[in-house]
Amino acid sequence: MNAPKPLYEGKAKLIYPTDDPLVLRAYFKDDATAFNAQKKGSITDKGEINCTVSSYLFRHLESDGIATHWIDQPSPREMRVRAVKIVPLEVVVRNIAAGSLCQQTGIPLGTPLEEPLVDFYFKDDALGDPLLTRDRILLMKVATEEQIDQLKTLSLMVNKHLSAFFKTCDITLVDFKLEYGLDSDGQMLLADEISPDTCRLWDTLETDPERRVMDKDRFRKDLGSVEEAYRRVLARVMAHC
Ligand code: UDP
Repeated sequence: MNAPKPLYEGKAKLIYPTDDPLVLRAYFKDDATAFNAQKKGSITDKGEINCTVSSYLFRHLESDGIATHWIDQPSPREMRVRAVKIVPLEVVVRNIAAGSLCQQTGIPLGTPLEEPLVDFYFKDDALGDPLLTRDRILLMKVATEEQIDQLKTLSLMVNKHLSAFFKTCDITLVDFKLEYGLDSDGQMLLADEISPDTCRLWDTLETDPERRVMDKDRFRKDLGSVEEAYRRVLARVMAHC
C-alpha cells in the first residue's frame, strides 16, 4: 500500500488526511528553521518532544474550557487534530520584552510588561510575516472586527492558563505565538502547536541570560545544548501535568 501523500508540508510539520474528512494527522519533523527559513538545521527528537509538549498543553487548555483542534496523540510524533481552515494570522502574546519587540521599540530585553501585549502578524512567508495593525487586518479582510476581538480574548485566556501552568514547572512564559482556525461548524479553535519552537521559555531557577533559555532561541542564537533544553521542558511539563 502506498503511503498517503501529505496535504501540506510546513517547516516543522506534515499534514496528512485520514479516512474521516473532519480529522487530520499532523506529523512533527525534527527540521528547525529560523529567520524566515534563512537558517536551517535539525534538532534531534524535536518532533517527538514538540508533539508531546503540544499534546499536554492542548489537553490542559481543553480541560480549562478552551476549544482546540487537538484530538489525541496516537504515536510520539503524531497528533490527530480537527480539520480547520487556518486564519492567516500569527497571534503573539508577550509578558516580558524579548525578540522583535526589543528590536523594534528599544525596550530592553527582560523588561516585564505592565499588561500582556497582543500582536498580530500576517502569516505569509513571501512577505516575511509582517506585523499588522487592526486597521490593516480589516483592510486585508483577513478577519472581522469580531474575530479580532475574539482572537485577542482567547489568546489572553491562553496566556493566563499557560503562564500559571509553566510557573508550576519553574518556567517563565516570556512570549509565544498562537494560530487559530475555523472548524466545519465555524467555531474558532486554537490550532497548530505550542512548544519550545513557538514559545520563549526561561528557566526560573537560572539568572544567567543565556543559561536560562529553554526554547528555540538556543538554535536561533547558536547557544548550544538545544536538544537538552527541549528535553528539560518536556520533563518538567510531564512532571506537572
Ligand atoms: N514565533 C513563532 N513563529 C514565528 C515568529 C515568532 O513561533 O514565525 C514566536 C517566537 O518563538 C516567540 C514569539 O513568537 O516566542 C515572539 O517572536 P518575535 O516576534 O519576538 O520574533 P523573533 O524574535 O522570534 O523573530
